[in-house]
Amino acid sequence: MKKPTAEMKQRMCIRKRRYRTQGDALDAALIAGVERQRTAYCCQLCGQWHLASV
Ligand SMILES: [Zn+2]
Repeated sequence: MKKPTAEMKQRMCIRKRRYRTQGDALDAALIAGVERQRTAYCCQLCGQWHLASV
């Protein structure tokens, strides 16, 4: 499997919803009922938080 390129990461960043804090991201997962399947990570591109599948 190829490593994701910077361009691919940027596309993912643009597609994904952004959260200002880790708490905001995890709250959103909780509300959606998917907190067990999601993890929050700090994005190096936008400096905000996204949710990723576990
Ligand atoms: Zn991002």
